[in-house]
Amino acid sequence: MAGYVRLDGVAASEGVAVGPVYVHLPGELKPERETISEGGVEEELERFRGAIATVVEKLSATAEEMREGGSEGEAGIFEAHAEMAEDPEFHSEVEERVRGLISPEAAVLAVGEEFAALFADMEDEYLAARADDVRDVASQIAAELMGGKAAGLEALAEPSVILALNLAPSDTARIPKGMALGFVVAEGSRTSHVSIMARSFGIPAVVGVGAALEDALGAKTVALDGTEGYAIADPDADAVSHFEQKQRDNAAEAALLEEYKHVEARTKDGRRIEVAANIGSAEEAEGALAWGAEGVGLFRTEFLFMKRTDLPSEEEQYEAYREVAEAFGGKPVVVRTMDVGGDKDLPGVDQPEEENPFLGWRGIRMCLDVPGLFKPQLRALLRAAPYGRLKVMFPMVVDTVELRGAKRILEECRQELEREGREYGELEVGIMVETPAAAIRASDLASEVSFFSIGTNDLVQYTLAADRGNERLTRLQSADHPAVLDLIGKTCEAAKEAGIWVGVCGEAAGEPEMVPKLVEFGVTELSMSAPSIPRAKKAISEIGE
Ligand code: PEP
Ligand code: MG
Repeated sequence: MAGYVRLDGVAASEGVAVGPVYVHLPGELKPERETISEGGVEEELERFRGAIATVVEKLSATAEEMREGGSEGEAGIFEAHAEMAEDPEFHSEVEERVRGLISPEAAVLAVGEEFAALFADMEDEYLAARADDVRDVASQIAAELMGGKAAGLEALAEPSVILALNLAPSDTARIPKGMALGFVVAEGSRTSHVSIMARSFGIPAVVGVGAALEDALGAKTVALDGTEGYAIADPDADAVSHFEQKQRDNAAEAALLEEYKHVEARTKDGRRIEVAANIGSAEEAEGALAWGAEGVGLFRTEFLFMKRTDLPSEEEQYEAYREVAEAFGGKPVVVRTMDVGGDKDLPGVDQPEEENPFLGWRGIRMCLDVPGLFKPQLRALLRAAPYGRLKVMFPMVVDTVELRGAKRILEECRQELEREGREYGELEVGIMVETPAAAIRASDLASEVSFFSIGTNDLVQYTLAADRGNERLTRLQSADHPAVLDLIGKTCEAAKEAGIWVGVCGEAAGEPEMVPKLVEFGVTELSMSAPSIPRAKKAISEIGE
């Protein structure tokens, strides 16, 4: 396939895709015309009102669809956006400018920017974060005025390959179901969140292609191979048929793996290894079960709320946890408390700008400092506990001071519910071992928890001092490094001594070449993106004599 623009990157999510290109470079929308003629004012005002009506109608319809599909959180975002589009103050500002002979699209974008700047300047972090919503809505109206071109990922209406500099978890979460055929992203590694989400949703992805992305921005079609880690801009018929052949091969492999989906995985010498799924929303529960999940080893609750514009109440969280607990029935569901910070912002959380967010105020550190954020989640979990086998897991723990602090707040919540006479259940408590400190001193922690789950994504980045999202550090982004393996070994030894189980919920858990190593260390649970489950079960069945 010589002569093509080929972009080499990291094989982030397996599978191949060919499709039309959708470029996501936020802030790119420019008005087609700056001014209008005097005679056109009334007609332009009519067009502006028409565009508002269309955008509001689209947003409301999407909200309705989301609600029917059980996605309350997403519905709330689209409703809030519809309200912003209907704001009379915004309308009169735009109309005044149109009367001053500014084109409606230019006026909408300018007024949107001014309103956004007002929000951005607000002291309150939550209100400041609304600036992006205002820009978003203004872009949608302007795009409608310019012929209905999609302005944001949520408006994507044709299944496409998405090209982006980066995709934050909140961007990925906004893409309508079925509209992303694949991702080609300039930044990132296998363990950055765009890759994790791509794998969970079974969307092929190549990340870390770097500056080469620019060469593909003008392409009409892009083909990508997320298993090999490359993409091709504007492939010709030969290249397309090559990719189609790969699609057929992948389908054949999937058919072979089918028989492993619902087996209870055991090594040849009979050791039973539980294979669970990592999920980020209640809606993923059913899909995970269909892939053969024997439980949830990591429920990333911060993903659950990323699509919203505000923080969920205790009641809403209770509903979500109860739904997952019930979906999994007697199977264990490990719910990780909010791991906000690092590369994951959450609307409604006062997250300061930090020099080094991955070394900053994230995970359990933030939760311990903000009981107003932590307690509703713990109360919701305790209340949902009677409906299944829920366990709670704290992220980013480095020592027993943090662990005891978290357990104390959990106990406070339990006592509150008791006093209030509310129904609740007991929760087993575990921690993620994802900092070198926790692994090195695992024996201190092991006696105070019921389980460990090793988060190899962060454990690798902190052990090897290599940012998990930096596309230049691929060699240092693997758990298969002696320094990381030593820490995994140490964690397993401490767990064995204390008589608790150890799982792995970082991406290494789903890598077939890592599976035998983890099992040899004594890991008894592996939790991964659901589509990786059948292959991991096969890998387990091949371990031993
Ligand atoms: C990890 O760090 O390995 C992990 C599973 O957590 P996250 O990827 O959400 O940081
Ligand atoms: Mg982590």
